[in-house]
Amino acid sequence: MDTINLSEKTDWAFIEEVKKESGQNPSLCYQCGNCTGGCPYTQYFDYPVSVVMRLLQSGQKETILKSKAIWLCATCETCTTRCPCDVDVANIMDTLRIIARREGKVAEKDIQLFYDSFLDSMKKHGRIFEMGILMGYKMKSGHFMGDAELGPKVMSKGKISLFSKSIKGADKVAQIFNRFQEKAKKHG
Ligand code: SF4
Ligand code: SF4
Repeated sequence: MDTINLSEKTDWAFIEEVKKESGQNPSLCYQCGNCTGGCPYTQYFDYPVSVVMRLLQSGQKETILKSKAIWLCATCETCTTRCPCDVDVANIMDTLRIIARREGKVAEKDIQLFYDSFLDSMKKHGRIFEMGILMGYKMKSGHFMGDAELGPKVMSKGKISLFSKSIKGADKVAQIFNRFQEKAKKHG
């Protein structure tokens, strides 16, 4: 874990941006550490989630947006559930990912590619098509042989189908995606 770095000048506009987009007030956090205590992925984070909250209170924009922690967060919401101040911490982590992506500062590119493949599958089929996600991810990331040894095991147990099956109303799901993407383009 890196040590906390408060060397940046406080970026007040960034704090306001996160507040507005998440609907949360980071200044309510009093650093009790409950969120970090329950976070199942904290050992993999470069900054524990309570430290991310402290960095946010201090407007350390670059440090946060370049951190791995915001991408390794699994959105399990344990932090949100445990926060005594009712801060929706998982929502803040989500918002930080969105801003990092918008600003082209994604520290964990493979995770972003996996999200993209997941969403492409949802848009196309209205549901998850695991094989499609896998192939999409491998094509985009170039990790063709990663986890290849697991393939035969999951295939033999019927966990992954070779053929896609779209749901009834998949076109409606695609319309939701299109509406969102158009709106996102308008807001830059
Ligand atoms: S939502 Fe993210 S930060 Fe919060 S406890 Fe889960 S993995 Fe950790
Ligand atoms: S649980 Fe809430 S108050 Fe405690 S450190 Fe985390 S965000 Fe701050």
